[in-house]
Amino acid sequence: MQTAASVAMGGLTPRVDVCELCSTGGEMLRASVLVWHPRGGAIQVAVCDRCTAAVRRLIALAGAAGSGGPAQILVRTELSPAVQDVESVVVDLVGEPTLIHEFTDPFRAADGRLYTVCVWGQGRADGTWIGWLLFVPRAGGATRRTPRETTQSNREQLYYWATGVEPAYLTGAFRRAS
Ligand SMILES: [Zn+2]
Repeated sequence: MQTAASVAMGGLTPRVDVCELCSTGGEMLRASVLVWHPRGGAIQVAVCDRCTAAVRRLIALAGAAGSGGPAQILVRTELSPAVQDVESVVVDLVGEPTLIHEFTDPFRAADGRLYTVCVWGQGRADGTWIGWLLFVPRAGGATRRTPRETTQSNREQLYYWATGVEPAYLTGAFRRAS
């Protein structure tokens, strides 16, 4: 049978250890892959830079047309959501990435560059909405996005969350964005 899971990248306090995805030893681990199972529970594995790039690419391929948000995927196994099983990943079309809120004031990064900040959201099969932030450089260049920043009970609650985001929060979110 198929079970739905969602996958995103998260941060990690850097350390040198065995990559928990490709099992290569002595790697600098500075990111994590987060897998939420629909029946509850979550798995977090610390990953090397190569696995980080691979999983980011996988998430980009799997979904989130336009916005590049966290992908929802189906994993064809009853046991565990095996992220490395690339052939098992298919797009779950439930829930379109949606622009929830665009902040009026730009965000100024430490290097002085200005970014337009938007909150995007996506509905999940259980009716909840996840939210993440996009930082769009006003002078052009690569858009940065955060991993999932929040899960709310519905779209309206996600909008309320978005409108309550403070400038100090954006500074931290910008560091989480890539
Ligand atoms: Zn690895």
